Amino acid sequence: MDRTTYIPPVPLEVASILDFHRASRPNGRSRPAARPTVSLVVQKYGGTSVDGPDRMRAVADHVVKTRAEGHDVVVVVSAMGKTTDELLKLARDVSPSPPGRELDMLQTAGERISMALLCMAIWHKGMASTSFTGSQAGIVTDAAHGRAKILEIRADRIRDALSQGQIVVVAGFQGVSQTSNEVTTLGRGGSDTTAVALAAALDADVCEIYTDVSGIFSADPRVVADARLLPSVTYEEMLEMAATGGRVLALRSVEFARNHGVPVHVRSSFTWEPGTWVTDDTDINSEEAPVEQAIISAVTHDVSEAKVTIESVPDRPGIAARLFRALADHGVNVDMIVQNVSVNGATDISFTMPMADLHAGLRVTEALSADIGAGKVTHDSEIGRVSLVGAGMKTHPGVAAAMFEALAKENVNIEMISTSSIRISCVVHAADVERAVRVLHSTFDLDAEPAAG
Ligand code: ASP
Ligand code: MG
Repeated sequence: MDRTTYIPPVPLEVASILDFHRASRPNGRSRPAARPTVSLVVQKYGGTSVDGPDRMRAVADHVVKTRAEGHDVVVVVSAMGKTTDELLKLARDVSPSPPGRELDMLQTAGERISMALLCMAIWHKGMASTSFTGSQAGIVTDAAHGRAKILEIRADRIRDALSQGQIVVVAGFQGVSQTSNEVTTLGRGGSDTTAVALAAALDADVCEIYTDVSGIFSADPRVVADARLLPSVTYEEMLEMAATGGRVLALRSVEFARNHGVPVHVRSSFTWEPGTWVTDDTDINSEEAPVEQAIISAVTHDVSEAKVTIESVPDRPGIAARLFRALADHGVNVDMIVQNVSVNGATDISFTMPMADLHAGLRVTEALSADIGAGKVTHDSEIGRVSLVGAGMKTHPGVAAAMFEALAKENVNIEMISTSSIRISCVVHAADVERAVRVLHSTFDLDAEPAAG
């Protein structure tokens, strides 16, 4: 990409989308008569976007440019590059089981470094900027270290700084508990959630998520060479994609965006080109969107799960409840569950969970199997899940049939199936995953148009 041609942070089509959202809000601000539109923009920069002084300066440039156009800007930053991983490794090097409080104290430092450096870079470019930790920014969470949930945002300090003309920079992925008064973190990838939550609290016109990819693709471009950049996806599609292997946005940030109607724009901080809009409206990018909305938007995959099967489970009320209660109480995050028709009063139950939970999952299931008089417990970590996601599925019969036929033709065996109204997922052997993704991508015509010229 030619990085010398500067593309303004808020190009015209984006300005018109901002107008669109303003006009369509029940309590919408009035439609401004002339451009540039004055609005509040939240910009989140991920770890690769701020990885080193050159990147910091490029980001500062973009932030300053956005402010110079008259927009209020609140920036959320992640820790630089692999900082969070490195901090976690340091922690494990001094202690195999560090206290949650100290882990959070340590990890929040990563985002503090980013926010201070970015502010310095902005000042150097001649604009006023103030950084805030999560706690200073009024991000109030519960007390669960390492996986805190945002309860409330008391954004007075941010509003004050904005009204003084400052660019506000907030450390992502952190807050403060209102009960324990301790610093907390929101879990890996939590800066996305900070950004969307701030955008909701401040009633921002858009939450821009800047990353190292151009947006959301119809499949992982590392697996499918001609995967297509999607101009827009709905919140529901994005939720399904984030939950089934799409790695660009953290799942919780998408839930937050949907629940609060925050328009999210995922885009690259390397090219600064428009990326993918995540909103309620599939056709806001009407100039670029195809005339007919595609039935399927994307194929996602995930090889990070394992499957456990418990055989000959007595088929009586209360057995599944006991099994999954025990798993939940041990923090095992169960995903797909399949129970067979029972034969002679017994049935098999299979379920999947993140590989990281497999050890605990097996221990709990084996203990319970003896208790309830079930049979053998087996497991398989060589599995993967391939999913088709598309809002058009609701109204189009035959998608599942076409998916299974395509997999059959590739000789891919389906081990488990689950569906939602806009997603079909198949668990297959891990070695078949990439082949399955490619065949589904072409079967459902998701491939990019060949480049002109
Ligand atoms: N730095 C944190 C992480 O690596 C939070 C984030 O980047 O969103 O998970
Ligand atoms: Mg991230």
